[in-house]
Amino acid sequence: VARDPDCVFCKIIAGEIPAAGVAESDLAIAFMDIGPIAEGHTLVIPRDHYETVMDMPPEVVADVYGLAARVARAIKASMGCEGLNVLQNNGACAGQVVGHVHVHVIPRDSGDGIAWPWPSTEAEPDRLASLAERIKSGMNEA
Ligand SMILES: [Zn+2]
Repeated sequence: VARDPDCVFCKIIAGEIPAAGVAESDLAIAFMDIGPIAEGHTLVIPRDHYETVMDMPPEVVADVYGLAARVARAIKASMGCEGLNVLQNNGACAGQVVGHVHVHVIPRDSGDGIAWPWPSTEAEPDRLASLAERIKSGMNEA
């Protein structure tokens, strides 16, 4: 198992730091977030240390997101929430605090008071087409 000795999530996987475990799969584990945005907020992480979603091999991405979907179904069934956010931040500028990739599964209900601070904008179709071309050109290296 690839491990970063300074990583708090690697320490959880090694059993050196306690966590309230929820589920496991071949390549991932799920446990309760210690700073929950809502009750039931759960994290899903790969067993091996990868910093971002872009660093994970496809089979690890599939396993982590497969477990995240199972956890989301379990939270909805057991906690009775109306919906959930499944979020994953990459880089400090995007709100990533721990440098070991993690998927947030957050139960949501109407009127739960959790703000969604992202502003939405209106894009011109020409601009969308040009951005699509730009990203397509990056797919060669992806
Ligand atoms: Zn780690």
